Amino acid sequence: MSSAYRFCPQCGQNLQFIQTGGAQRNACVAPGCGFVHWDNPVPVVAAIVEHEGKIVLARNVAWPKEWYALITGFLERGEDPATGVMREVKEELDLEPQAANFVGLYEFRRMNQLIIAYHVPATGTIKLNEELNDYRHEAFDECRYWEAGTGYALRDWLRAKGFDPQVVGWARGAG
Ligand SMILES: [Zn+2]
Repeated sequence: MSSAYRFCPQCGQNLQFIQTGGAQRNACVAPGCGFVHWDNPVPVVAAIVEHEGKIVLARNVAWPKEWYALITGFLERGEDPATGVMREVKEELDLEPQAANFVGLYEFRRMNQLIIAYHVPATGTIKLNEELNDYRHEAFDECRYWEAGTGYALRDWLRAKGFDPQVVGWARGAG
């Protein structure tokens, strides 16, 4: 069990693990406080970007050089996921998103995230933002997937189009 908190963000007391809501949770036992760190999964939007008839896979600056994956990001407060995923495509690739077609929901347990995956056709010229340092154009029939939430989204989308993607070996821990 992991927790980002040692002290109560409401009152500053030390948190303790207690049994509440059907599980051991990091919680505040100070009288009248009641803070519980529920540690719920965080939603993350992911884009299978289709550009010039191919899939765009990009490499985050923090990743090993063989890793290329989907465009991902967090939602702003109150933002619709389809709007958010198109915003991320514009921010990270400087492309003009034409639509956001829902693909599915995928769990990413290691990061305690819920992946909301979309297919995003986009036009324009790719210009990476500071989060990315390389990208690839992958043909549908050569595109491979990785064994993680976003990789399964890509696999399922390719299969729905009639392709039979192979798995890559690098994937452990990728987004
Ligand atoms: Zn407290």
